[in-house]
Amino acid sequence: MRLVLLGPPGAGKGTQAQRLVKRYGIVQLSTGDMLRAAVAAGTPVGLKAKAVMEAGGLVSDEIVIGIIAERLEHADARKGFILDGFPRTVAQAEALDALLADKGLKLDAVIELKVDQAKLIDRILTRAEETRARGEQVRKDDDPEVFKHRLEAYNRDTAVVAPYYSARGQLQQIDGMRPIDEVTQAIDSILETV
Ligand code: AMP
Repeated sequence: MRLVLLGPPGAGKGTQAQRLVKRYGIVQLSTGDMLRAAVAAGTPVGLKAKAVMEAGGLVSDEIVIGIIAERLEHADARKGFILDGFPRTVAQAEALDALLADKGLKLDAVIELKVDQAKLIDRILTRAEETRARGEQVRKDDDPEVFKHRLEAYNRDTAVVAPYYSARGQLQQIDGMRPIDEVTQAIDSILETV
């Protein structure tokens, strides 16, 4: 199973991806997680990405495509994967198609979580409060001001990715404002048909 989850930051892609990992035994490939790990480790990629991420912008296509190309070579990605946070631009979507075509592979599903952007800020504030309550550190880019920049980047560069897949007859959309379990069920029903 090879799957892409689309939707703005805070739509619940990460939460749903983790559930799919358990259910289908495939890996979650989150470019955000990979970039945060690179920043924490102080790698050359991390050093380049840090300031952009903290400002809520998009890291360059070249960097993220490179990360994904390398990651898809790992043995654990052979069984399938859920892409979470990638592709975020049409150039990334085209690069993904090319990477998969090289391996004779295709995506099984592209699912977009549709959300009300006005309500996303509340969601992100709740996520920050819950993280703090668990005694964990809140992501710097979950600050409301930075979050607004992330949404702007989404609307400017990423919102066009869903139409890219739609034009290829690959896009399925679900209501991401429903309770988490219902969203999971909606995803499951789509995946049962692929
Ligand atoms: P996320 O955890 O998916 O919200 O990603 C956190 C941050 O990492 C984003 O706000 C971007 O700065 C960066 N990032 C993650 N994935 C990508 C991507 N596919 N393209 C560009 N930047 C990305």
